[in-house]
Amino acid sequence: MKAPILKTLLPTSTAGSLPKPSWLAQPEALWSPWKLQGEELIDGKHDALRVSLQEQQQAGIDIVSDGEQTRQHFVTTFIEHLIGVDFENRKTVKIRDRYDASVPTVVGAVSRPKSVFVEDAKILRQQTNKPIKWALPGPMTMIDTLYDDHYKSREKLAWEFAKILNQEAKELEAAGIDIIQFDEPAFNVFFDEVNEWGIACLERAIEGLKCETAVHICYGYGIKANTDWKKTLGSEWRQYEEAFPKLQKSNIDIISLECHNSHVPMELLELIRGKKVMVGAIDVATDNIETPEEVANTLRKALKFVDADKLYPCTNCGMAPLSRKVARGKLNALSAGAAIIRRELSAS
Ligand code: ZN
Repeated sequence: MKAPILKTLLPTSTAGSLPKPSWLAQPEALWSPWKLQGEELIDGKHDALRVSLQEQQQAGIDIVSDGEQTRQHFVTTFIEHLIGVDFENRKTVKIRDRYDASVPTVVGAVSRPKSVFVEDAKILRQQTNKPIKWALPGPMTMIDTLYDDHYKSREKLAWEFAKILNQEAKELEAAGIDIIQFDEPAFNVFFDEVNEWGIACLERAIEGLKCETAVHICYGYGIKANTDWKKTLGSEWRQYEEAFPKLQKSNIDIISLECHNSHVPMELLELIRGKKVMVGAIDVATDNIETPEEVANTLRKALKFVDADKLYPCTNCGMAPLSRKVARGKLNALSAGAAIIRRELSAS
């Protein structure tokens, strides 16, 4: 068992991305292209990182991040830095069995010639003494965002990515990152593969790390393809149930989940009892800002299945597509909601 990185009860954090300033990329859009180039882009990303960090700190968020200001897309920005993937040669594939997307092709053995995010992570580390979390894509979500014309095996390619992610994660740890998170929305879709090799690949990606590790599994950003998919899932979303028993036994320290305004039965959290849980208490698919009491309600429900010292209030997913004003409101609501429950816990 790793020592807790924080003494604060119910430390708050975000699942991932935060809105980008309009001078860096088109706001209120996902995967929006950069407005700057070359050196200006590098400086621009780092300035945006400082702004995003400042907004998190001002809202009282306990575990902070770069707000993903340094990437355009949570998967492809990482892949762009690898050898073996051809971004000119694109194919249309169905992402997470849900929507068609034009994706790059794996044309040869994949490798990471140099670190991808380590310089950005060092800049974040220099700006704050708070615990910091850095997100990387998970191996299974990476293979689902590519057309593979080389390995011809999803599993083989996932193992290769796991090795590469492990190299990056070790360098991020050395740069002072406290929590490394792997985004694996694909875990809510490909259940057989998750249990056959998905979780094993994730464990390969965290092999030898001494910092905390997290996996974020969600029902996606609030984009139409995802909200349409959610409508087909019925009144109870039990997808988490498939991967939870194996995840509970895995070496991953923290599991980050979507819990607010979703139809996930809270009692599924019992299946991962013993793990730390980042409980999503902010809906990222609506501009309505939660009240602190709504956040507190979600946390109260989660406390029935998650021990208080293992509960980390969080957002359901990234907030990149929201306006900055709405995102700020939601960060404040998250802090205020967590404060209500802290008071209740200390009074009891
Ligand atoms: Zn997510």
